[in-house]
Amino acid sequence: MSDFDAISSSRTLHRLIYASRQRIAPGDLDNALGEIIRASIARNREVGLTGLLLVHDGWFVQALEGAAEAVMTTYRRILDDPRHDDLKLLSAGPADAREFGDWNMCARRLSAADDAILDALAQREAFRPATLSGAGALRLLKAVRGIQHRTTLDAIV
Ligand code: FAD
Repeated sequence: MSDFDAISSSRTLHRLIYASRQRIAPGDLDNALGEIIRASIARNREVGLTGLLLVHDGWFVQALEGAAEAVMTTYRRILDDPRHDDLKLLSAGPADAREFGDWNMCARRLSAADDAILDALAQREAFRPATLSGAGALRLLKAVRGIQHRTTLDAIV
């Protein structure tokens, strides 16, 4: 059974995580990210998807969660997007609960101060997210979720 068959076999909550290489000129990254996030939030809201997009060192790592059909349809569109390539599916399957339910999509870039996260995942010397296990990729994105939450709280206080 293919990954797509596996995730489309049920309408229960599913989560998919992939890594890909950015194909965006460095000077265009801010604008391109803005476009990607605006389109993602609008479309994901329509189909009940939530998730997080990590943007670091020439890579994207993204989690999508929602009904299997919505996850699969969206991932197929993302696969065809020329703004990235070399997509590597890291995990896909049923999930007990949403981990990124605060956002229809949220992009986060890591700063130098966030390097401890990469240390913990032995990814600091060379960020190679395509080599992560599914569990490792989820740990990474959950750590990024924590940074995003702290940053939001700091902005409020
Ligand atoms: P249209 O907007 O009609 O565009 C047609 C084609 O052109 C598509 O292949 C599209 O990918 C491509 N395209 C669109 N804009 C540009 C551009 N500025 N430069 C180059 N090519 C372009 N979409 C979601 O709905 N949810 C997500 O969570 C999501 N996450 C994404 C994460 C990443 C890392 C990237 C790169 C894209 C993501 N997208 C997401 C965008 C997705 O790939 C589609 O562009 C978007 O969903 C619109 O699809 P569409 O078929 O309506 O394409």
